[in-house]
Amino acid sequence: MNHFEPIDGELACEGVLLSDIAQAVGTPVYVYSSATLERHYNVLRQALAAEGLKGENGGEALIAFAVKANSNLAVLKVLAQQGAGADTVSEGEIRRALAAGIPAHKIVFSGVGKTASELAFALKAGVSEINVESEPEIHLASQVAQSLGTRAVIAIRVNPDVSAGGHAKIATGKADNKFGVSFSEAERLYAQASNNAGLRPVGITCHIGSQITDLAPMATAFSKMKGLVQRLRGEGLAVERLDLGGGLGAPYFNQPTPPSPADYAQMIAQTMGDLDVAYSFEPGRMIAANAGILLSQVLHIHRRPEGRQFAVLDAAMNDLIRPAMYDAYHDIKPVLVRQGPMETYDVVGPICETGDTFTRERDLPPLEAGDLVAFLSAGAYGAVMSSQYNSRLLVPEVLVRGDQFAVVRPRPTYEAMLDQDVVPDWL
Ligand SMILES: *Cc1c(COP(=O)(O)O)cnc(C)c1O
Repeated sequence: MNHFEPIDGELACEGVLLSDIAQAVGTPVYVYSSATLERHYNVLRQALAAEGLKGENGGEALIAFAVKANSNLAVLKVLAQQGAGADTVSEGEIRRALAAGIPAHKIVFSGVGKTASELAFALKAGVSEINVESEPEIHLASQVAQSLGTRAVIAIRVNPDVSAGGHAKIATGKADNKFGVSFSEAERLYAQASNNAGLRPVGITCHIGSQITDLAPMATAFSKMKGLVQRLRGEGLAVERLDLGGGLGAPYFNQPTPPSPADYAQMIAQTMGDLDVAYSFEPGRMIAANAGILLSQVLHIHRRPEGRQFAVLDAAMNDLIRPAMYDAYHDIKPVLVRQGPMETYDVVGPICETGDTFTRERDLPPLEAGDLVAFLSAGAYGAVMSSQYNSRLLVPEVLVRGDQFAVVRPRPTYEAMLDQDVVPDWL
């Protein structure tokens, strides 16, 4: 469920008409619904609690929002106020999480290639855990921690070698992906880490992909994770935490429906039985995707004599790259629906490459130049992947709460864009 519904026939976000936002801020612009963010976070939280999946000291399981899905400080603050933690993959993301008011003890530092200085920053900040992905990274974490006179709290990322479906570019759980170590390596490394003066291994973690719509591969992976916890404990090693990653799909219109958070939690409870660990999760997409839209204006309707019609928008692949990069499908809705029979459009941006096509041959209500359209389900992996390609200004972001809205990242000026470059004085 989300809060992008019409008011008197005109598409709105919560209590704010999208046309009012377009008028005040211009287009293209991302618009986020704080009520939807809160709702998605709390639906998951309640589902986990209902199945008895607990966190540290018998408290709630940690839901560490994957900051890479949407890293706007205002979005993070909405989630922080609900009690969310953060799953981060760079020093920049740790800094964002802290700046948004997420306490360090709820921040997980993940990622395949952390630098020594990023590890030092994370350790000084006191993050909850560092999810290490390879043997060299474990050694580096140990060295950095010892040089700071501390121990790095680590979880070892295991690659469960399962195919979770979804697009190849976002599948992460097969042995030939770059992520994590095998089960046998994890056992050896966990034992080693337990005897290392710079490390305190507290658990294991996995994350097998994104936009997963089938629980079966997750259940397979999680049951292997349970087996590893039991084997490690059998060797006398302490395993306090189990981080099961993110990856649960979000409902995208016209795409396979993902399992509900309740079904997901139930599957985990059934798979884990009475395994006594503190659970944590790293959802990104399922919280943010349907909490955001990209609002754009039709520049022209370009009709080819052969009959093809192109709706040329003021948004482009640099603003929303998912269709070009992942063949992603976004529902497109006119903000005001014109009367008349459906028409077939290729919806495209103005960038000079064919990849700048949002969709081909989509049946939509009739469109005319000047109309506003919304790309739904654009709150995750949307603005965070935007760029200035073609020297287009970075797309702004707006957050709505009830009947108020605020620009939470302004559109830069052309001067600011040019000021980013430096021409050396010897030219
Ligand atoms: C990308 C990522 C996530 C979030 O994935 P979603 O599909 O957005 O839930 C969580 N954990 C790790 C380690 C990731 O790389």
